[in-house]
Amino acid sequence: MNAPCRFCGAPLEAVFADLGSSPLANSYLTAEQVNAMEPFYPLRVLVCGSCFLVQLEEFETPEQIFSDYAYFSSYSSSWLQHSRAYADLMVERLGLNGASRVVEVASNDGYLLQYFQKRGVPVLGIEPAANVAEVAMEHGIPTMVEFFGRATADVALAQGSANLLLGNNVLAHVPDLNDFVAGLKILLSQGGVVTMEFPHLMRLIEEVQWDTIYHEHFSYFSFLTVSRVFEAHGLRLFDVEELPTHGGSLRIFGCHADDPAKPESEAARELRQRERAAGYETLETYLQFGNTIERDKRQILRFLVDLKDQGLRLAGYGAPAKGNTLLNYCGVRGDFLDATYDLNPHKQGYFLPGSHIPIRAPSAIGDDRPDVVMILPWNLKDEVTEQLAFISEWGGRFAARTPELKLL
Ligand SMILES: [Zn+2]
Repeated sequence: MNAPCRFCGAPLEAVFADLGSSPLANSYLTAEQVNAMEPFYPLRVLVCGSCFLVQLEEFETPEQIFSDYAYFSSYSSSWLQHSRAYADLMVERLGLNGASRVVEVASNDGYLLQYFQKRGVPVLGIEPAANVAEVAMEHGIPTMVEFFGRATADVALAQGSANLLLGNNVLAHVPDLNDFVAGLKILLSQGGVVTMEFPHLMRLIEEVQWDTIYHEHFSYFSFLTVSRVFEAHGLRLFDVEELPTHGGSLRIFGCHADDPAKPESEAARELRQRERAAGYETLETYLQFGNTIERDKRQILRFLVDLKDQGLRLAGYGAPAKGNTLLNYCGVRGDFLDATYDLNPHKQGYFLPGSHIPIRAPSAIGDDRPDVVMILPWNLKDEVTEQLAFISEWGGRFAARTPELKLL
């Protein structure tokens, strides 16, 4: 018996994607833990036949999943650039100044809020992972160590409401979606703007990005469905941007439902229409995705087996959550990839969950000299091929999903 829909409460019966069983994607292992039992959970995504929210069943508490989150945003240079451009845009568009207030939910290590603070705008971060929040505070970004929802919004409101309330890559990670969006309604000032960024379901389906499915990622939104969720809590989405980040994201702009100064944009109207035309309000559209995933798995295995049969030495690059989904669903372990390399020192020396592939510093690539480096975070492949261009010295080549896995 499945739990009911996390948004509308309707019974959940339809399967969108079944990726078997897998450990939590961010539970990197020490050398000792590699020899111990490892918890695996079903990685099965359902779709609500009533509101079309695509959603993962919940098997672990959020505290367990996020309390020692190893993702530090500051280690990706293209993401930092994206964040700075966003901050500049919003300061201009909303006329933010020393009397305004910017609040970020899931503020990570403060990488984004620093750009507002440098422009003299008061900020507050809200971040549940204590180790990450600590780094933000060391850099002078005031941060509450809390999960966000109604209760946290009430506490934060005592310091003032938010003219800009933002969250990047958090909405999809929220188990109690209704409590979270209700909290946004509480903390937003009159005339204020909420912006949220999250991967766009339409891109996930059209570009076969099933590896972006993992346990920490509870909901997968179309613009139609996310609009419905915000409306249920007295908020209205009046604008939207389609971004290239994380393989194709939406940045939604919300306001109080009764805000007269924010008419619906042409972009918002057009995207709703495009999603309707593509069948995102029809269950059948969602039910076909399972076959696509199985076909893709067979292609990935054929590609890797072929390289191994040629006697080539393979390695991975990066240790992102999407890499873990791909490796565990396809059953790719040390028999295919000797190691993977990641810039984040908090991951180096650890092992990938499930596949137990060792994570090394990128500086070790020159010693290991792999023939093919498979870029696991395919959304960063331009950045990675540039950084690692030196592998051509020994004839090394890159592979990545585009969406088919192939040599670049
Ligand atoms: Zn529903």
